[in-house]
Amino acid sequence: MSELWYTEKQTKNFGITLKVKQTLHTEQTDFQYLEMVETEEFGNMLFLDGMVMTSQKDEFVYHEMVAHVPLFTHPNPENVLVVGGGDGGVIREVLKHPQVKKATLVDIDGKVIEYSKKFLPEIAGKLDDPRVEVKVGDGFMHIAESENEYDVIMVDSTEPMGPAVNLFTKGFYAGIAKALKEDGVFVAQTDNPWFTPELITNVQRDVKEIFPITRLYTANIPTYPSGLWTFTIGSKKHDPLEVSEDRFHEIETKYYTKELHKACFVLPKFVSDLIKE
Ligand code: SAM
Repeated sequence: MSELWYTEKQTKNFGITLKVKQTLHTEQTDFQYLEMVETEEFGNMLFLDGMVMTSQKDEFVYHEMVAHVPLFTHPNPENVLVVGGGDGGVIREVLKHPQVKKATLVDIDGKVIEYSKKFLPEIAGKLDDPRVEVKVGDGFMHIAESENEYDVIMVDSTEPMGPAVNLFTKGFYAGIAKALKEDGVFVAQTDNPWFTPELITNVQRDVKEIFPITRLYTANIPTYPSGLWTFTIGSKKHDPLEVSEDRFHEIETKYYTKELHKACFVLPKFVSDLIKE
């Protein structure tokens, strides 16, 4: 019986390949090529334009780290926005915070939401929670139309190409600052230091010009390019490294801990060199 493997080219010369059990769904949506594939090692996986978005086995790392670092940094995150995030994983983590009264998700592609609910129920299952409002639309436009509204904004978008190209611009980060309240916090996934070092450097530079507190943290995500993933946090007032012990209320996690909340900001030299002044 011949074997079927799915290869993601992470650069033109390097990639990962995953043994496929079955292809669950493929579709060219209005915005991207959507693939849902069941793999032997990582379970069901969502790919967009040939790039790994999430997998049943390792999704918790990214979703916990995008959500809990900013949500524990802000003292009272009641109104939260997720840009992108159509697989629902960040929203699931956001709802573990009792202070959150409303979580809005804005993803440009309703098909991602539809097929994540169908094939990734443990990731997308909270999108129908009463505290959640799901909007299908361009996150760039949503941010442009928002002012002084959110306590925490998380940008869980695809790579800076296709529909997400505007979501890594200084103008977008300025829009995020406007959409946040006066003590708001935002986080964006900012890819990896091995293959996209310049993205990390550029985003830090842009965010630093807008937010008084700007930091970079990392997490280990085996199915993402290089496995060493970064997140850029911008904050108007609250420092993620100054969170008092009493702030860390108990939540169920598999990767994030209050100790890791601080440790994830300790960077390897080749990474800290990317963002030094
Ligand atoms: N965690 C993944 C990562 O780090 O690459 C991202 C997963 S999530 C599925 C990415 C989402 O961003 C997709 O559902 C895509 O439709 C959405 N997206 C891309 N451009 C967007 C835009 N301009 N506005 C809103 N959502 C967008």
